[in-house]
Amino acid sequence: MNRHRQLDTLFLDRDGVINVQLVGDYVKRVEELELREDFLMAIPLLRAAFRRFIVVTNQQCIAKGLCTRADVDTVHAHLREQLSAHGLTLDAIYVCPHLAGAGCHCRKPEPGMMEQALTDFPDIDRARSLMVGDSASDMRFGRNAGLPTLFIGKVTDDNRAEIAACADIVFPSLLQFAQTL
Ligand SMILES: [Zn+2]
Repeated sequence: MNRHRQLDTLFLDRDGVINVQLVGDYVKRVEELELREDFLMAIPLLRAAFRRFIVVTNQQCIAKGLCTRADVDTVHAHLREQLSAHGLTLDAIYVCPHLAGAGCHCRKPEPGMMEQALTDFPDIDRARSLMVGDSASDMRFGRNAGLPTLFIGKVTDDNRAEIAACADIVFPSLLQFAQTL
């Protein structure tokens, strides 16, 4: 990354990047949303580097009937409030509510949420943007969306090949990456 020029848009996966991923469960209520400490610490560094922040999140809990779209919107209103209190304004949050295997065009790694973002923000400079996530699916989404990709988390025997194929940058945490900007 070139530290002398402002970067454009940071595309963020939600669970495991911004908030703590619940093991075997979904964030269905505000009480289940716990922001990650390393993300909060990265905010000033990220704000200095990027001019726009967009969340792209798969929430098949909606299609599974575990929660409603309104529940997810309520969680996101709370998320926006909490992040605002830490100095970060989200420009947009895009949600795929569909089941894995439903064949929709918006569930990552399909690029539908990127197309929506380009409709809403036609001046996005993809080459100067970045997709950050903690799964191979996020990295494939970035590839399909024409974005450079940052994988955060552990590279294991299970994900090594896919991460090597789809991630441009790998860091243990978003904070550690942000400290290089
Ligand atoms: Zn979808």
